[in-house]
Amino acid sequence: MTTRSETQTTLDHLLTEIEHRNPAQPEFHQAAHEVLETLAPVVAARPEYAEPGLIERLVEPERQVIFRVPWQDDQGRVRVNRGFRVEFNSALGPYKGGLRFHPSVNLGVIKFLGFEQIFKNALTGLGIGGGKGGSDFDPHGRSDAEVMRFCQSFMTELYRHIGEHTDVPAGDIGVGGREIGYLFGQYRRITNRWEAGVLTGKGQGWGGSLIRPEATGYGNVLFAAAMLRERGEDLEGQTAVVSGSGNVAIYTIEKLTALGANAITCSDSSGYVVDEKGIDLDLLKQIKEVERGRVDAYAERRGASARFVPGGRVWEVPADLALPSATQNELDEADAEALIRNGVKAVSEGANMPTTPEAVHLLQKAGVAFGPGKAANAGGVAVSALEMAQNHARTSWTATRVEEELTHIMNDIHTTCHETAERYGAPGDYVTGANIAGFERVADAMLAQGVI
Ligand code: NDP
Repeated sequence: MTTRSETQTTLDHLLTEIEHRNPAQPEFHQAAHEVLETLAPVVAARPEYAEPGLIERLVEPERQVIFRVPWQDDQGRVRVNRGFRVEFNSALGPYKGGLRFHPSVNLGVIKFLGFEQIFKNALTGLGIGGGKGGSDFDPHGRSDAEVMRFCQSFMTELYRHIGEHTDVPAGDIGVGGREIGYLFGQYRRITNRWEAGVLTGKGQGWGGSLIRPEATGYGNVLFAAAMLRERGEDLEGQTAVVSGSGNVAIYTIEKLTALGANAITCSDSSGYVVDEKGIDLDLLKQIKEVERGRVDAYAERRGASARFVPGGRVWEVPADLALPSATQNELDEADAEALIRNGVKAVSEGANMPTTPEAVHLLQKAGVAFGPGKAANAGGVAVSALEMAQNHARTSWTATRVEEELTHIMNDIHTTCHETAERYGAPGDYVTGANIAGFERVADAMLAQGVI
């Protein structure tokens, strides 16, 4: 039997090879390191996982599509963006993962997100593979008509690669209900098919699931509550800092408030707002979802309890809980030190890979409960899979039923991560637990299905 250290050496060689084979993709390297650095115990314990080629296949996407997206702005000028879809792994079901529209999008970013998605989707226990896509298009400041023309052009290429049994995109940064509507309309027009299950995050009344918009944020709060319960605490009366002010942040704040915690911050790329009375969600939703404005408008309109800090990061505000809900690498070592100094008890990732590896290490060393995104924010994709199930059955479930399922799934994910970490000698380490549990499910399916 191979020892853990021999296995780790093999995995380290593989990581070096990944860096050589995928140059200039630092986010993908980071995500691969984060997973492969925790797999040695399971690969050493179960010889079938050491089979040559298994992990090599896991880190290589099944298919990667890059395409031109030409569109006309309101002045009639032709613009050209780049579109991506990375279909990473379909051992457990159709590729599933969101579309991100943000100027920072490139192949490495989409590959990191797609790689994470494989393990996250496996953790939900549902039949969904991993994929991700998007474009370097920036929807900020664009009119509805421009966004529509962009989405139509994007789908005019993407439609040939997706389908309810093949690949099912959803939203992510810059892609919400408006964009999913335009994308679905164009798919329906081109294919002449009402194929509701081809996209999730659809609107109520035309195939969308109740609680899908809320699911990622709600799910993350449920995961944080489960971590606290494990330590004999609950959310009641805890102060929380939340970053971002988009879909995930808004519904994180909503659930925290409903469960008796006080969420006192939100942010966007211009800076953050701290509101000692707790974020007023009606006002935030009005500014962000209706007016598509910036968070400084919140502070202006809220009155004395709130202030806007330009360019700052929410992690400098003292709190019991931190829920990063904006983007990757938004919480670094210095931020982790500030959180620890201020006595943070738990950090739960609503965003994908928001905490740098050095910051994760510091938080775990300080005994802070740390919930990695692939477990903590899996509620969104889980309810997307429930949306697919409803579409398939041509039915729609009540909000109560969907939320009960979501609660059940999040508690199951927490238990799975917790027990798996303990089984492999890393009690309380949710990163190791999530990576190993997700890996086991995907690896078993890949081994059963042969070398493909
Ligand atoms: P939204 O587009 O709705 O909101 C994103 C928020 O994050 C905005 O406030 C945005 O501010 C801020 N933000 C984005 N990029 C940056 C940046 N580079 N620097 C500072 N702030 C930034 O996206 P979502 O809420 O859907 O997604 C947030 C995170 O959650 C992402 O990491 C996403 O991958 C992850 N996630 C989302 C899921 C979903 O169901 N939507 C599911 C699972 C994970 P600004 O407007 O100024 O750019």
